[in-house]
Amino acid sequence: MERYDVAVIGAGPAGSMAAKKAAEDGAEVIILEEHPRAGWPVQCAGLLGLRAVEESELSPAKFVIRPVRGAEVVSPGGFRFSFKSAETKAWVVDRRIFDRALLAEAARSGAEVRMASPVTGLARGGGRSVLDVGRGSDQRKIEARVVISAEGAGARIARGAGIGPAKEILSSAQVELPIEVEDPEKVEVFLGENFAPGFFAWAIPASDGVARLGLSCRENACLHLKRLLRSPPINGRVRGGPLHLVVGGLPLGPPASTVAEGFLTVGDAAGQVKPTSGGGIYPGLVSAKIAGTVAAAAAREGGASADRLTEYERRWRSELGREIRLGMIAHKMRAKMTDEQLDDLVRILANREDLIRIIEEEGDIDRPGRVIKKVAPRMGLFGLRMAKILLRNHKILK
Ligand SMILES: Cc1cc2nc3c(=O)[nH]c(=O)nc-3n(C[C@H](O)[C@H](O)[C@H](O)COP(=O)(O)OP(=O)(O)OC[C@H]3O[C@@H](n4cnc5c(N)ncnc54)[C@H](O)[C@@H]3O)c2cc1C
Repeated sequence: MERYDVAVIGAGPAGSMAAKKAAEDGAEVIILEEHPRAGWPVQCAGLLGLRAVEESELSPAKFVIRPVRGAEVVSPGGFRFSFKSAETKAWVVDRRIFDRALLAEAARSGAEVRMASPVTGLARGGGRSVLDVGRGSDQRKIEARVVISAEGAGARIARGAGIGPAKEILSSAQVELPIEVEDPEKVEVFLGENFAPGFFAWAIPASDGVARLGLSCRENACLHLKRLLRSPPINGRVRGGPLHLVVGGLPLGPPASTVAEGFLTVGDAAGQVKPTSGGGIYPGLVSAKIAGTVAAAAAREGGASADRLTEYERRWRSELGREIRLGMIAHKMRAKMTDEQLDDLVRILANREDLIRIIEEEGDIDRPGRVIKKVAPRMGLFGLRMAKILLRNHKILK
């Protein structure tokens, strides 16, 4: 049987980064990816904040398509609120190239990469884990001191290891298609029950004349995407058929624990997604670095008890826990707002230059908590009404 210090399941951004850090710290690492190619199928709108790009430790020139400096937010009743910063606030990227570049870095650091290698089972005993890898006649067993699950939203192996699911999994769908875009440096956001119940829809300019039009919502994202394509803000602008369709789950709210005996979870598998925007790359990369370092140290010491691995849990929650908790509160409030309240919110923001300036100057899609905390108390009566909704639903603060 082959033996490693650390086995990583999944070669998405979180898996590649965890493997890279564990290998850099001297561990013998293997990455097992079920697909024959990394970064495919793409399940992402490809909007990355500046911090996410920095955390990737890659040269942006490899994968960046265009800069984003602002947004146009459209309410259910068609009211609009728009802002544009003087600086780049985010990048639209090619996720396929991004994922491959991250995996190449993991390999360069010494991690062994096995593509077309699905992990189908996990057994634990004697301080080691044994993974069943491959299907049919091509089955092997691989032993590791520490397993890192970076399996994405489904995370079957993590569930089998006793790690609970995210608090909520949103249904998501997106098409890439030729469409007229007024300002390619702005993303469009559509709020309300008609567009995306419980979350929002988006149009993100990609290469020239092409945008990624998608949404996340409580259920039936494909049905809502068809409706969005026929809706007034979109239908007159479409200039051709879909070039690429994406369907996937978006996990929000990490489970109570992301660690078990000899086992860590990172990225979507651990619900490490920003609840305000649905972005998972930034929190996934931050957590993956911690996971890789802790896994390598535990393997070196020869003990990977759940107790030893809680260092990972403690460290990632201290980096991201507050931001994700505040994000969950903001997400739950938005999800409970009626279309009329969303209209009010957009109308108020559209008329408040002071608030627009705060968003333009301090907006940070990777760490939105700071701007939320600054803008919310300045919203007068509307802010008070929202606070009441919050108090009525005080359970979400826990
Ligand atoms: C429609 C949509 C749009 C999004 N847009 C954005 C965005 O604009 N910006 C952003 O930051 N985030 C976005 N996200 C979220 C982002 O895509 C995820 O958070 C991110 O991909 C999570 O990375 P990961 O490495 O945890 O998992 P994934 O990228 O899902 O990678 C998991 C990998 O594990 C492999 N795998 C799974 N099970 C096994 C197994 N048993 N054996 C071997 N391999 C396995 C999979 O094949 C996959 O390669 C979006 C999500 C959706 C659904």
